[in-house]
Amino acid sequence: MSGKVPEPPRDLAALRALRADGTTRLGVVGWPIDHSASPALHGAALATLAAAEPSFAAWEYRAYALRPEELAEALPLAAERGFRGLNLTVPHKVEVLPLVDRLAPSAERIGAVNTLLWEEDGLHGLNTDGYGLEEGLREAFGLGMAGQSVLVLGAGGAARAAVAEAVHQGAARAFVANRTEDRAVELARRFAGGVTEVAAVPLADAGHRAEPGTLVVNATSLGLRPGDPQPFPAAELPERCLLYDMVYNPPETPWLAAGRARGYPVANGLGMLLHQGARALEIWTDRPAPLAPMREALEGFLAGA
Ligand code: NAP
Repeated sequence: MSGKVPEPPRDLAALRALRADGTTRLGVVGWPIDHSASPALHGAALATLAAAEPSFAAWEYRAYALRPEELAEALPLAAERGFRGLNLTVPHKVEVLPLVDRLAPSAERIGAVNTLLWEEDGLHGLNTDGYGLEEGLREAFGLGMAGQSVLVLGAGGAARAAVAEAVHQGAARAFVANRTEDRAVELARRFAGGVTEVAAVPLADAGHRAEPGTLVVNATSLGLRPGDPQPFPAAELPERCLLYDMVYNPPETPWLAAGRARGYPVANGLGMLLHQGARALEIWTDRPAPLAPMREALEGFLAGA
């Protein structure tokens, strides 16, 4: 079980050296993976489950640093070594697609996998990012995306999850604005044609195209580093917008600070992170996720990060 001090991630050689010893293994795979909050999040969850059901004391969750080209060897190895599931992060979420036996609708929608589950009939690929976002929004603002106008800033993997979930939830419209406009156009094209109006808008125009009360989601990586500019000036957004920043570290980005100063409801991506992890845990364990200790572990980890 992981304690307060994070262990260094394991590599492919360490995975090869594991033996099937009755431990039920879980983990997160990325490259790089050094600062992942997931071992703290899931370590706390497993400790809580084990207090009620001792069999969970034989479960563990660790970080694995694997290069993209190592995944094809690592996944069958993991199956032999007692793995029940894995989380995947950058750059594996799309690279893994040809390696799974079954894709859940959640992963098909997004075109990416963040959760793997080994079942008798093979390796299942799922995606809990959209669920995490929807729950994060509900928790922060008391509403989800159904019937809402949504403006997604960004056109990478996280933006794709946001637009897929907006469409899945039945948002009225989902506009996508990105620095590289072609990527926004491509993303919007992928999800257009259903009940939700999906369109790319030029970043410079996003403030005019958004209507009052729009749910604005920052799915760019801007805000992660000190000195980053806002992904779109909060001051140019119409009234009553709600600002959700997928970035959670720092807890308040300049964008959220500017939005808050204007009186908009704002929230960071901690809730999304918590709930995508909680759903993955439920998929692996078939138990309700213990949200309170998971949130506490996450906050403790980030406070020390
Ligand atoms: P990604 O695929 O690399 O996409 C990055 C996005 O940020 C692209 O739209 C990119 O625009 C934009 N961007 C990067 N630098 C920029 C700059 N200097 N100016 C303007 N735009 C810039 O990354 P991702 O996986 O989608 O992740 C995006 C963010 O979401 C990250 O901060 C990540 O930590 C966060 N996230 C949070 C959660 C959560 O649970 N809270 C989950 C997933 C992701 P271009 O297309 O023009 O390059």
